[in-house]
Amino acid sequence: VLLHTFGCKANQYDTEVVRQQLEAAGCTVVDDAADADAAVVNSCTVTHVGESKMRGYVRRLSRQRPGIQTVVMGCAAALDDGRIAALPSVMSVVGGADADAVARALGLAPAPVGPLAGFRGSARAWLKVQDGCDEHCTFCATTLARGDNRSIDPEAIVAEALVLAERHAEIVLTGVHIGTYGQDRGTGAPGHRGTGAPTLGKLAELLVERVPAVRFRLSSVEATELCDDLLRLMAEQPDRLAPHFHAPLQSGSDGVLKRMGRHWYTAETYRRRIESIAERVQPFGLGADVIVGFPGETDADHRETVALVEALPFTSLHVFPYSPRQGTAAPRFGAPPPAAVVRERGAELRELAAGKAAAHRSARSGGLADCVLEGRQGAVREALSGDYLAVQLPAEAPWVLGRSRVTARLAMSGGRLVGEQALEAVA
Ligand code: SF4
Repeated sequence: VLLHTFGCKANQYDTEVVRQQLEAAGCTVVDDAADADAAVVNSCTVTHVGESKMRGYVRRLSRQRPGIQTVVMGCAAALDDGRIAALPSVMSVVGGADADAVARALGLAPAPVGPLAGFRGSARAWLKVQDGCDEHCTFCATTLARGDNRSIDPEAIVAEALVLAERHAEIVLTGVHIGTYGQDRGTGAPGHRGTGAPTLGKLAELLVERVPAVRFRLSSVEATELCDDLLRLMAEQPDRLAPHFHAPLQSGSDGVLKRMGRHWYTAETYRRRIESIAERVQPFGLGADVIVGFPGETDADHRETVALVEALPFTSLHVFPYSPRQGTAAPRFGAPPPAAVVRERGAELRELAAGKAAAHRSARSGGLADCVLEGRQGAVREALSGDYLAVQLPAEAPWVLGRSRVTARLAMSGGRLVGEQALEAVA
């Protein structure tokens, strides 16, 4: 079976669960379509471009390997209007992330599998703590595809983290809307040792307490949902919870945020939360998504977004053009701005973000970084700092060789951040 994933980290996690399920059922997972009898394609519905890439991939697969039987799973599969099912070689469309259903679609009996054992060829692992979302952002088809917020039992998460920590130096907590972790479980959920609802902050504390050594990281989390427990861990134990997160902004205009259905924050509450985090956690990495060209976005709206991005310490920005999705409310708000205007606004934000990222890298030069070692390219070992900076380390240096994690002193070299031996490491 050949596995292929489109989309986010939650999808990558789901594909690994499918891999484990299929291997337990006796399949061999292959990397080359020429060796495959079947394929499982995990789809994404965030943009129409992603969906059309997925359909192109399935068509190419059927030409490359006539007779291959394809199962399409994931978010686009959950919302399929028949177009995916009609693609050549597609034998089944399995909405969502049900690994047992994928096995059954391939004619296999699902085998009982334990916690996810690990991610092949990666120093970092992803751990899904919840699925689904209770919100209804007017541009978002993911919430339609994934259903309501469903938090995974904290004890099951700890058990999986213990297994993953044997093979990985970093574990990224992922999901669809992780800031709402626990809200569906209420207080006193089974396995939660403590009082009050098992929030994401309490879950992180539990993981740090019960799973030794490994570095945890949050994936995407709403700025106003980042609670004080999480901030305390990032500030006081940055080696256990990386001082970095991705806080979706989408727009700096309150009018646009309102039409997007993002009712839980305004530009001002987002700004205040980020500023208070920056006061407590230093250094820290801050990413965000911004959508340009939402229906009705005016030049004044765009200027508000630019002003907010300028004011806050972003270290990376994902700028996307608005993509109308079937079944969502936003297309009813009218046509987006002309394509040329959207391109111009996107380019302005990307240029601004590139300048801020470069400034953050320069400012970190001379400081220390907790580096998790990733791939090797010749004499260079790629690494990722806690604040999400790519760092290059000398692969053969005695303080690097054979390790999965080192503390390095950062320096700029040819526009890149390199790591040098830190005195602390010698000590
Ligand atoms: S918060 Fe909004 S954008 Fe994020 S998954 Fe939920 S509905 Fe979609």
